[in-house]
Amino acid sequence: MYPDLKLFIAGKWRKATSDMTVVNPATEEELGRLPCASKSDLDDALEAAEKGFRIWSRTSPRDRADTMLRAAALIRERQEEIAQSMTLEHGKPLPQARLEVIRGAEFFEWDAGEAMRTYGRVIPAAHGHKFSVHHQPIGVVAAFSPWNFPMSQPARKIAGALASGCSIILKAAEETPAGAIHIARAFEDAGLPAGVLNLVFGDPAEISSYLIPQDPVRLVAFTGSTAIGRHLTILASEHMTSVLMELGGHAPVIVCEDTDVQTAAVSGAIRKMRNGGQVCTSPTRFFVHESIFDEFTSTFVKRAAATVVGNGMEAGVEMGPLANDRRVPVLTNFVEDARAKGATVATGGERLGNTGYFFQPTVLVNVPENAQIMQEEPFGPVAVINPVASLDEAIAQANSVPFGLAGYAFTNRADYIDRMIDEVEVGNLSINTLEASMPETPFGGVKSSGYGREGGTEGLENYMTIKHVWHSAKIS
Ligand code: NAD
Repeated sequence: MYPDLKLFIAGKWRKATSDMTVVNPATEEELGRLPCASKSDLDDALEAAEKGFRIWSRTSPRDRADTMLRAAALIRERQEEIAQSMTLEHGKPLPQARLEVIRGAEFFEWDAGEAMRTYGRVIPAAHGHKFSVHHQPIGVVAAFSPWNFPMSQPARKIAGALASGCSIILKAAEETPAGAIHIARAFEDAGLPAGVLNLVFGDPAEISSYLIPQDPVRLVAFTGSTAIGRHLTILASEHMTSVLMELGGHAPVIVCEDTDVQTAAVSGAIRKMRNGGQVCTSPTRFFVHESIFDEFTSTFVKRAAATVVGNGMEAGVEMGPLANDRRVPVLTNFVEDARAKGATVATGGERLGNTGYFFQPTVLVNVPENAQIMQEEPFGPVAVINPVASLDEAIAQANSVPFGLAGYAFTNRADYIDRMIDEVEVGNLSINTLEASMPETPFGGVKSSGYGREGGTEGLENYMTIKHVWHSAKIS
């Protein structure tokens, strides 16, 4: 069920001289050996990507779209096999993995359509002159995708690059390689020319520091923590290479006094625990009007505590283990720090069991501003619920972190919504839903949450450059 793990370079699958273990986070058993690319593998990938770029950038947008749609159809056909391998390596419940596979296919489908709509424009000019603006693929993309969504994270970057006419070298997450392997297989079977998509694995720092300074690389596309994003941005800037950065979030949820308290609380508790809270848009800091605070908190805590935690392959499980062992001490420290500074641990707060990286669904209440979790994203199944006296206070709290990716609110008051649209500092604001993005909507952050957008009609902009052409009919 779990795929054979290989590098995909110049249209061929290959092993490497060194490898690392991929582990099932629910059982801690070895799932496979992941090949780590050497410098010579990376040189081959760069050469292949340069050749791939020459072919693909000259392929018509309609033909590029056809290939992408064929690959998306294969991903849909292979949904069950892909989903099972993702649950094994990541731990997420199988139904959530199945949905993610379809979301991955949708990213390719949307961007395939956009490939044919990267319109330029004509600027009025004097008689005998023509001014035109052309959007052209930027070149070879070096992309780095994280472990929290093994299918949809690599899909977003590959889709953007291929729709724009770029070639790509993707370093997918070493803990969760299966999604990217399945994408590469689908594109191989769909007839993508060799070298357009290259897939490597290995030590992230070694690979990024080797690839980013290379001449053919014209865009660095990264999803992950703000600290690593900043480091890669500095590296890219030394070579005047563009960046697309989807970085951390620490999403606020403003719960107003007019809302349906029970429904909002249940929805918040369920959504917080999705993917074990390992989502950059995960709703984390709940600022609840003091008049409904007790009712909201008790309902939320009850539903969070009732979350069915277990092996994602088992029916009925709502939350799997954390995706890797690094997260367990990180989350424990967040909880201990908040408790020491006066927060109430209303439920959870500890590792669950001795095998697998399970962590209890956790709710912290009345968390003081100086607690570490009020400034740093937990990236796990931990929610904070604090009372606020007014919308002013809620908005100030929402904006009090360096991040600005997703933000949410529960209210039906038009005046409140109007103010939040103007004042909440995020790239994605959702009212009365805790969904933040779709393939057709632009996704990305402000402040330390990054630069650029993926998805929507804006999604291909980072992958393209703008060329202005001035054509004079006579030499002047
Ligand atoms: P991390 O910061 O070490 O790594 C985050 C991601 O960046 C991983 O996928 C990793 O492979 C990659 N990475 C790390 N160093 C790199 C380098 N020098 N060059 C290229 N890629 C590199 O932390 P972690 O323990 O893996 O994850 C924890 C933190 O990462 C979380 O707190 C969260 O903020 C962030 N994260 C964010 C997302 C997201 O969707 N925005 C996804 C995963 C992790």
